Amino acid sequence: MHALAEQYAILAVNADSPAAVVDALEAARECQSPVIVETSLWQLTGHSFGCGDPFLGMTRYLTDLAVLGQSERYRSVPIVYHTDHIKGPITVSLLQRGITGLDVSFGGQALSLSASSISLDSSELSVEENLATIATLCETARDAGVDATLEMEAGVDDGVTSLDEARALFGAAESANPGYLALWAPGVGTKHGLGSAGGFEPEAVARHQTLASELAGRPIGIALHGSSGLNTAQLKAAVAAGVSKVNWSSESLLIRSGAALEFYQDHQEQLTKGHANFKETAMDNGVQSSVSAVYVPRVIERLKALGSDGKAPSFMGTLED
Ligand SMILES: [Zn+2]
Repeated sequence: MHALAEQYAILAVNADSPAAVVDALEAARECQSPVIVETSLWQLTGHSFGCGDPFLGMTRYLTDLAVLGQSERYRSVPIVYHTDHIKGPITVSLLQRGITGLDVSFGGQALSLSASSISLDSSELSVEENLATIATLCETARDAGVDATLEMEAGVDDGVTSLDEARALFGAAESANPGYLALWAPGVGTKHGLGSAGGFEPEAVARHQTLASELAGRPIGIALHGSSGLNTAQLKAAVAAGVSKVNWSSESLLIRSGAALEFYQDHQEQLTKGHANFKETAMDNGVQSSVSAVYVPRVIERLKALGSDGKAPSFMGTLED
């Protein structure tokens, strides 16, 4: 809501390894920006976090963020943890864990860790199923006596979502569960992946932002999926039209994997038995530092395009209120 009121958007980085999480925070720290780190099911289940078990993955992700968020280095960075594409039979139980959270003790202090905001992948759900899942998650929050902040999604890759569809989905979910929805992710002509973003329609963002806010009776931000192909001008137009959260995954992966590829190509000789610099090159720190040097400036570039640089102190202020 801070982003919407101050007309900027927060970058939501799909960070899929501990090093990627650190790099997202590094970029945010450097330009005093808030940042969202988000995880889809593939990240929670993936080797770096859950190693097959998404519940373990979420626990490790949440504790990692909590430790980093309390550290001297990143204390000034507002960090939001968001669940992104979660789908399949595990959806409800995993998101319920995200809402009710887990209790840990850290430095003698008891902490309750939960997701800051929740969304689910509705691409394989009917309207009825999408609404029923949202209702179940709201009920979980009510039963547990905790807050939940939800992002609701329409078929993001299916072209521009009609306003009638927005009423049938967002409007119906809001009237059945008033107050839980903070973000609406309709299709606005972008697509997931690395294809061209030629179909992006900022006007559709504006129409949806106005309608969703009317339906809710409070300001609702638009979450933009499939932002990888968008250039700086398009990102600025998106923010001006009412986008307050920009998901970023494919391009982020491309930059990181490309930098890693280059590192290994450039260091083939050092990675042979007997080379004097073998150990420092072969260590995880070697490739990750090299990737970071390429990746962090690109994240900063995006944060600046979205106008979130310099917003960390006032964002923190809203949390302390
Ligand atoms: Zn998405």
